[in-house]
Amino acid sequence: MIRLFNTLSGQIEVLAPADASSFRMYACGPTVYDYGHIGNFRTFCHVDVLRRALLLEGLKLRHVMNITDVDDKIIRNAAQAGVPISEYTKKFERAFFEDLDALTVAHPEVIARATENISTMVRLIQRLAAQGYAYRTEDGSWYFRISRFPEYGKLSKKDLSGMADGARVDVDEYEKDSARDFALWKAPKPGEHFWQTELGPGRPGWHIECSAMAMEYLGDTLDLHAGGEDLMFPHHENEIAQSECATHHTFARHWFHVRFLLVEGRKMSKSEGNFFTLRDLLLKGYKASAIRMLLISVPYRQQLNFTFEGLAGETAAVDRLRTFHQRMMSAPRATETNRELLAETEVCLRGFRAGLENDLNTAEARAAIFDLVRAGNIAADAGAVSEENAAVILETLREFDSVFAVLEDRDSAITKFALDWAEQEGRLDQAAPEVIAQQGLSDERIQALVEERTQAKRSRNFARADQIRNDLAGKGILIEDSKDGVRWRRK
Ligand SMILES: [Zn+2]
Repeated sequence: MIRLFNTLSGQIEVLAPADASSFRMYACGPTVYDYGHIGNFRTFCHVDVLRRALLLEGLKLRHVMNITDVDDKIIRNAAQAGVPISEYTKKFERAFFEDLDALTVAHPEVIARATENISTMVRLIQRLAAQGYAYRTEDGSWYFRISRFPEYGKLSKKDLSGMADGARVDVDEYEKDSARDFALWKAPKPGEHFWQTELGPGRPGWHIECSAMAMEYLGDTLDLHAGGEDLMFPHHENEIAQSECATHHTFARHWFHVRFLLVEGRKMSKSEGNFFTLRDLLLKGYKASAIRMLLISVPYRQQLNFTFEGLAGETAAVDRLRTFHQRMMSAPRATETNRELLAETEVCLRGFRAGLENDLNTAEARAAIFDLVRAGNIAADAGAVSEENAAVILETLREFDSVFAVLEDRDSAITKFALDWAEQEGRLDQAAPEVIAQQGLSDERIQALVEERTQAKRSRNFARADQIRNDLAGKGILIEDSKDGVRWRRK
């Protein structure tokens, strides 16, 4: 049973579906106007951890994520680029899913695009208007009257005394401390894309989109609603107001918010020079698996300080896990089962599960698995890993990886993908030279060179052996001699 902090109640609560048939969750998706940055992906990776942990508990999931493909920024950027909004957003939506795949983030059961659900939003606004919660302004826009919802502020715990009745805000995002009536439907400005509907011409506001689509696909009451902490106010507060005023039911029983990250100790911003998209990091030669590992290893309610030193540490950690996994598959088997190791494996598995169930404490869960790596390596060094030991350890690693998803090595294929993209976009100058150099070398070519080096050493041609090692090192490929043989890896 997973216990999780609920922003709404301020308490840690056992997570269980209202209806045993499936766990119904909604997670705010991206606004597809640019490439996603690592702060966005920290949220998506932690929602993925939650998703995978729920599946591990044996729950059936129905997880819905929206794609915001119309909003202020999209309209502005598409106009600047001189293309229709659908053409503008398609490119960034595709990029978003490519990035999720690179980070091994599983896709939700339902992807809901705002522009494909306009009539659902119109119906919800009509329902609010019929009950006096929405009003139309002279220009033909519709607003939500927050003074009609006394519980407004209950999620973010904002003090709304002194709030001016009738003050309005028409932009999708705002950080004002004083809450204001917000736009449900926006009349078109000259030249803007609009839908002709029973509310009049216009387009939906950002907030109504999530309320309408969440309830359309999941029913009036969700088991859980997820998003980054930056969305708590006003976006999630507005979602609650719209949904609960329309249905008079609780909108989401549980609210899950992922904290922001810092980069090198500072808030990430373009002006600080510490703003990174996933693709920026891949072009610098960082591995997708290490980025995922760093994003998820600090529990979701704690602030992560994303540093390059941390990233190097995670690269080594993932490598250590993969090497251990290989070793447990291929190490020579002892005839007697190592009872002590069997007991240690059991303790580690329990520790892993307990970590996840403890408010998704990924740090605790991960530490348990590294305890297993240590114990397993000591036993393997002593030749004391039996078939049974190996089987139980491999099963534990499989369970770990069903949540962490870092064991399968797709890193060089992902880096190659990023380079191909950079080439198409004319951004190859952003790639590190050694990353470009490595790409000329296929795995087969590297393997052939490594074998040639081994042969050269055997025939005492040390000059050639050293030359091969140095050439490969210059391209970021490291050869490691160990007693199990020669291995190589991309740095
Ligand atoms: Zn949303």
